[in-house]
Amino acid sequence: MSKNLTKREVDYSKWYNELVVKADLAENSAVRGCMVIKPYGYAIWEKMQAELDRMFKETGHENAYFPLFVPKSLFEAEEKNAEGFAKECAVVTHYRLQNDPDKPGKLRVDPTAKLEEELVVRPTSEAIIWNTYKGWIQSYRDLPLLINQWANVVRWEMRTRLFLRTAEFLWQEGHTAHATKKEAISEAMLMQKVYAEFAENFMAMPVIKGSKSESERFAGADETYTIEALMQDGKALQAGTSHFLGQNFAKAFDVKYTSKEGKQEYVWATSWGVSTRLIGGLIMTHSDDLGLVLPPKLAPIQVVIVPIYKGEEQLEAISEKVDVFVKELRKRGVSVKFDARDTFRPGAKFAEYELKGVPIRIAIGKRDLENNTVEVARRDTLEKQIVSQGNVVDVVSNLLDEIQENLFSKAKKYREEHTTVVNTFEEFKNAIDNVGGFVSAHWDGTTETEDKIKELTKATIRCIPLNNKFEEGTCVLTGEKSSQRVLFAKAY
Ligand code: AMP
Repeated sequence: MSKNLTKREVDYSKWYNELVVKADLAENSAVRGCMVIKPYGYAIWEKMQAELDRMFKETGHENAYFPLFVPKSLFEAEEKNAEGFAKECAVVTHYRLQNDPDKPGKLRVDPTAKLEEELVVRPTSEAIIWNTYKGWIQSYRDLPLLINQWANVVRWEMRTRLFLRTAEFLWQEGHTAHATKKEAISEAMLMQKVYAEFAENFMAMPVIKGSKSESERFAGADETYTIEALMQDGKALQAGTSHFLGQNFAKAFDVKYTSKEGKQEYVWATSWGVSTRLIGGLIMTHSDDLGLVLPPKLAPIQVVIVPIYKGEEQLEAISEKVDVFVKELRKRGVSVKFDARDTFRPGAKFAEYELKGVPIRIAIGKRDLENNTVEVARRDTLEKQIVSQGNVVDVVSNLLDEIQENLFSKAKKYREEHTTVVNTFEEFKNAIDNVGGFVSAHWDGTTETEDKIKELTKATIRCIPLNNKFEEGTCVLTGEKSSQRVLFAKAY
């Protein structure tokens, strides 16, 4: 295995692509834009799923599953949504292949097996789900309906990057139905909060909660709430979105309920999703030139133990000692791997676990046997300490918490150092080009100005922060009046 990664400051994008492959997270596949997620990468996704799933259930949601295909007539029903996704849809037109009479050994589409109605491979599932909800919702007693689905979706993206933007991706999509507008907005904001808590407490990735400008809004939504993170190259990443869909889908699919007063009312809706993009965000937030750095709460292996030995006898003696604290660590819920392979030297193992971002490495050799010690090394700061075997369990438990916290505060400090408040367009351009990160600026609220700024600087409005305070000012581009600052950045 070649361990030398391109350095981040030399070519950040190359560093990222190499790291994903070398750390054994994912690789490109035979299908353009679609990736193979390898076991180590999938293990991270499973940890993310488990936590998010727990959080969704704690907030009252249940899982269900809907079809991969959406009949075109249903897909068209909510016009804005259809228009927004039309340009990136894969469409199934036939249901059978046959031998090609002109090319022996080859297959072709059977022209007699054309579908009566074309099927869209879901880019998102509002249409098929709201068509189903029509049969599930009759009265106010059926509300709220709080459903989540774990699934794959397909968006025919032109420029793809492993995890960050792929043509097929794994995600969860929540789809809820409510009796009132107020309740639906609260739900959309609650799920934004759940996402933010997950990002900060588990991924150790600080995020800004805000809402999207009209041009960045989800197609078919009245409001899109977002969490925005900052990557180490100064670019922002939209890490999750939660949409207030108004009554748009209820009207498109004629979903009404009888209220307590006996009146027929359209239902209010939300949808919300996070995807395997989060793994890309996790990598880009913490990792360094030596490889991945994983927060303990999402690391598939939290502690690896590498024995340094000569001969069977020494290995046996080490294993006996190690066994005692491995059992104790596992009892405390820590995932531990004892790597006694004799096909790799300790140095090669150290490099491998560094590359794979295992938070803590314990090494134990002949001298440790004599002194009843081990060497404990942390991946985030690369610091090492000698610990007596009797204290390993406590030291490791505390260190896992410390690493989790350190990663979060380091990322937050980076974000603070890369957030610039500007008042003129000169300052704006300078901040975007030379500092990177978020730029807080007054904007006149129009899509024209937003587009113009994007054209001039490549920066887009990431969000209108939720905790914004009223502040009188003038738009950095047009000088028109503005009542609040918004956050701009170049984004993934
Ligand atoms: P949306 O339904 O467009 O609001 O997307 C929900 C979430 O999925 C977004 O916040 C992104 O984090 C993620 N996402 C969107 N497109 C892609 C893609 N092509 N690959 C991976 N993740 C994506």
